[in-house]
Order: sequence, then structure tokens, then C-alpha cells
Amino acid sequence: MAKKQFKAESKRLLDMMINSIYSQREIFLRELISNASDAIDKIYYKALTDDTLSFDKDNYYIKVAADKENRTLKISDTGIGMTKEELEHNLGTIAKSGSLAFKNENELKDGHDIIGQFGVGFYSAFMVADVVTVTSKALGSDDAYKWESTGADGYTIVPYEKDSVGTEIILKIKENTEDENYDEYLEEYRLKAIIKKYSDFIRYPIKMDVTGKRPKEGSENEFEDYREEQIINSMVPIWRKNKNELSPEDYEKFYSEKHYGFDKPIKHIHISVDGAVRYNAILFIPEKIPFDYYTKEYEKGLELYSNGVLIMNKCPDLLPDYFSFVKGMVDSEDLSLNISREMLQHDRQLKLIAKNINKKIKSELQSLLKNEREKYEEFYKSFGRQLKYGVYSDFGSHKDVLQDLLMFYSSKEKKLVTLDEYVSRMPEDQKYIYYASGESYERIEKLPQAELVLEKGYEILYFTDDIDEFAIRMLMTYKDKEFKSVSSGDLGIEAEENQHDTNSEENENKELFDYMKNLLSDKVKDVRASKRLKTHPVCLAADGEVTIEMEKILKSMPNNQHIQADKVLEININHEVFQSLKNAFEQDKEKLNLYTNLLYNQALLIEGLAINDPVEFTNDICKIMV
Ligand code: ADP
Ligand code: MG
Repeated sequence: MAKKQFKAESKRLLDMMINSIYSQREIFLRELISNASDAIDKIYYKALTDDTLSFDKDNYYIKVAADKENRTLKISDTGIGMTKEELEHNLGTIAKSGSLAFKNENELKDGHDIIGQFGVGFYSAFMVADVVTVTSKALGSDDAYKWESTGADGYTIVPYEKDSVGTEIILKIKENTEDENYDEYLEEYRLKAIIKKYSDFIRYPIKMDVTGKRPKEGSENEFEDYREEQIINSMVPIWRKNKNELSPEDYEKFYSEKHYGFDKPIKHIHISVDGAVRYNAILFIPEKIPFDYYTKEYEKGLELYSNGVLIMNKCPDLLPDYFSFVKGMVDSEDLSLNISREMLQHDRQLKLIAKNINKKIKSELQSLLKNEREKYEEFYKSFGRQLKYGVYSDFGSHKDVLQDLLMFYSSKEKKLVTLDEYVSRMPEDQKYIYYASGESYERIEKLPQAELVLEKGYEILYFTDDIDEFAIRMLMTYKDKEFKSVSSGDLGIEAEENQHDTNSEENENKELFDYMKNLLSDKVKDVRASKRLKTHPVCLAADGEVTIEMEKILKSMPNNQHIQADKVLEININHEVFQSLKNAFEQDKEKLNLYTNLLYNQALLIEGLAINDPVEFTNDICKIMV
């Protein structure tokens, strides 16, 4: 009998399958099972509209059977079957395989990846089989047919005897080669594992005869093998169940079964949407940071199922970066199994789902913040940095989404507070939202720069994360209130008695400050009388956009651009030290040089900046001791 040739594009796909790499071969079973499930679906839908048909769920199943001796694996179903024409048309061409166009372009680059990630259909059988035989009897037809192919050289179709409606696919599993083991596709435990992994939530039972051991009758320590038909898949996925039937433990169990994390999730979100796009999703907000979370290795994404069949382990397009900590899965009936990565990115349905999910995560976080503050703070300790990073990234375009989720440590409350809480208790005369940056709360608490603001009774937000100041720069304002560093030039605090003093004495001291500025000319932009210092003698402030904290962070980055803050040395003219400076200015310039350097270095130390020459600094201290 003459062999018929495959269509050209099918040939190319066949080539790819045959040459695919080992690790992706296992998905052939997923593909064949989902075809079987589709075929049962078709009978089911037919029965809905055809009175002469009834659908008794018990009669519909998929069966997987391995025969080691003959090296065959059989996948049979009680689905709608195929006529001769359908066998020819459906298996002889790749009719609508959307992924093919993409595959051609990327065959060399990335081809094997696609096989693993997306539906590749019936042809994947050739990844593990030399010969594929399909026998089928279509619903409403009296004849059955046998389709057979050894791959690239075409296929045959002949009449066949088959009693029941449905399809049987027999794979003649390849012989092992030196570096490829095909035997595993005949092993019960391996087949079971593959079914569990990819097809656990297929709605029809996937049956398999498995071997068990049991004690021999009449004997306690002798065992015998016995065969038993088991249903391998769990069929109804948790996300299709009614929320009311599920307990928090059910979700926790799912979280750990899925290996989303070793911790207990802080919150689960179960979504069922039956609108323009239909989908179910279960999302989790983890409690602990995955060990690789803040590294390049961490991959965000949700599991993506198409109608119960896993098509992608981590679909990144479902989550924005700022919510990359969210774990979970999405299942939609409206996504095609045969979808390439590129198509997925442009898929309208997927975009809609992503948008919905994003909104939902935000509102759940907000309600957590409102109703379960402690839990939210726990969450924030782990992932707050990611939210702040989200405010900063993409030129601040997500700040409206995220600003109400931010928290900072408050000088007043001695705990994390939201920006809304800060602003709502601001006294009327307070112009700005004040913040101070430093390594730790303890260090910030002691910053001389904060003295005036604190004395005014204003609240200060403590910034200890690298990203804090950058994120706040992106925000610029919250509820129309500008952010202001306590080290910035103008604090917007109304003049008080000592301010008057400073102004009048400014001219008087101009010569002294000019002298000091000259001495430190390569280090500071200016030397000034301080308006903010109360008890401390000296501090550094920054003029302009770049603050001292920002300079530190930028400096620590690889290939930094040597961006520097315009530093100003501020002197407290009400401090005794200032008198010594004045005296030295009049009597002993040598001493003034010494004092100036000492004060400058002290200011650096307070800021947590490195002293240029520590040896000189300690020598200078010794000089004033003797
Ligand atoms: P897809 O499933 O995306 O359509 P496949 O290559 O997996 O692509 O299958 C091609 C076609 O072959 C299916 O659309 C279906 O019409 C037919 N087919 C495959 N397996 C079966 C089966 N077990 N029962 C009935 N029809 C099948
Ligand atoms: Mg298919």
C-alpha cells in the first residue's frame, strides 16, 4: 500500500520532535492525554444539544497501559473518535498549530524550550516512539480505521475492526540508545509521575493498571504482587472547587504540595471570574522571602493552565515586577494549548487576566493593611523593599498603585506607619513630610540634623533601605505634601529667636566661615551657621538634588558615576565650640586649621562617611590633648 506524505510544515515539526532533547520528551503524554480529554469533551457537548445522546460520566475515561515486553504504550479514550477523513486531515497536517510559525524562526535558537512550555500536539508522540498507530471509531459511524506512521516517511490508513467508539493510540517505544533512556516510559512509577505532574486536573479519570504488593493469604511474611486499576489524577482541582468548601488548611496544603515555598503563606486569594474572560486563580502572598528573591536568579511568574492542563510553569506576564513575590496559578478555558511564548505576550485574554490579578492583589494587600496590621507588617518586612523598588522603577509610573502600601518607621510612633497616617496627623503649621536617612533607626535617632524638626514636635520618617530616598524622589509628594530631608537646605520651619541671632551674626562671622570654606574648598561647597542644630556642634547638610545618603548608595554601586552631594558644613554658633573657633580665628590660625579639619571629620563620622585620612585625624586629636 502506498504511503501518503505529510504536508511540508508537518514534516518540519516532526523533525523537531524526533531531534528534541531528552528532558522535554515526557510531555508527549500530556499532549496525548489532553487530546483524549478534548475528544471526550466533544461527546459531552454533543450530548448537551442532542436528545438521542446521553452522557453518563462513568462511561468516559482515559486509560494508559504499558506493555514492557512488547515495548508499547497505549493511550485509549472513549471520546468522539475520528472518521477516515478526520484521521487523514487531523493527523496528516498541522492544521492550526499556532506555535509553528514561531518555531520556524526560533528553531535553532530556542526551539527545545518551546516544546517544553507549550502544546505541540499529536506529533510529540514521535519524541519517544518509532511507530505510532492510531485506531479510531467515530461517533455515529459503523467503520473503524487504523492510521499508522513511522514518522518522516509518511503514513497509511486502512480499515480496522473496533467495537466501541473512541480512539486508541499505540506507541512503539524507541530502543534505548547510549545516552537516551526510553525504558522509563514503560515504567509504572514514571508514567504515574508524569500524569500527576501535567494532567492531574484533567476532568475525566485517567486509569492505569498498577502493581501492588499484599501479604499472601495465610502467611504473614510472604508477599505477592497483584494488579489493580487505579485512577491516577485527582480530577477536580482545588481552584475549581467552591470557596465555601475549602478551609485555610486546604490552601496551605496546596501551597506546599505545589512547592510554592517552605513557609506558610500569609494570605491566599481565590479568584473565579466568569466574565469577558473566564478564569480561576489561586494566589498566595508568602510570609518569608525566598532565599534567592533579591537576586537575578529569582524568576517571577504564575503557573498557567489551559483548561486544567499545565502549559507553563512560570508565566512572567501575569505579574508586574513589583508583585513578583506572589505565588500561585491561573487556569483559563479561553487560552489555547497551542500557544507560543510570543503569542502569549500579545494575547488579549492573558493581558486581561493579568490586569485583573494585579488589581486584586493590590486590594487584598490594602485590606490586609487595614484589617490585619500585624500580618501586613510581617509581609512588609519581607517584601516592602520590592514595593518601594516598584515606586522607583519605570520612571515612577506605578507610584499611584503602590504609594498607599508603603510604610516607614516613625520617630513618633516608634513603629511602621503609612504615609496616610503621617499626613493625617500633621499639625497645621507643618509644611513638609520630613524624613531622615541612615544605616539604622538608632543612628538616625542621634543625627544632629534632626534636632530642630524633633524639637518642633514634628514626626520624622526613618529611611534605612537603599531604595527609600530614591523611591521618595519619584513620589515627590503625598497628598500634596512635599517630602523633605532633615538635612536639606530649607526645612520650612518658621524663624525663632535663635534664627534671628544667626542672621544678624552671619555677617559678623562671614570672614571666619569664608576662611574655613577656603580651607575645605575641595571638600565642601560652603560653611554656614546652622539653623537646625540645637545641642550638637556640627553637621553636614546637602544643597541641591543629591543627598549625602544618595551619594553613599551611588558610590557603592558598580561602575558608579562619581556623583557627589554638594556638602555644606553647618556650625552651631550657639555651641561653646564656636567660641573656640572665633578665638582661634583671631589669635592662632594654626589652631583654626586644626579645629576646622577636626570638625569636618567629625561631621563625616556622624554621617557614616569614611574619613579620608584616619591617621591624620587621630594625630589631630592627640594634638589637642597635649
Ligand atoms: P490540537 O489538539 O491542538 O488540535 P493535536 O496535534 O494535538 O492538535 O491534534 C490534532 C487533531 O487531531 C485534534 O484537533 C483532534 O481533532 C485530533 N485528535 C487527536 N487525538 C485525538 C483523539 N484521541 N480523539 C479524537 N481526535 C483526536
Ligand atoms: Mg492537542
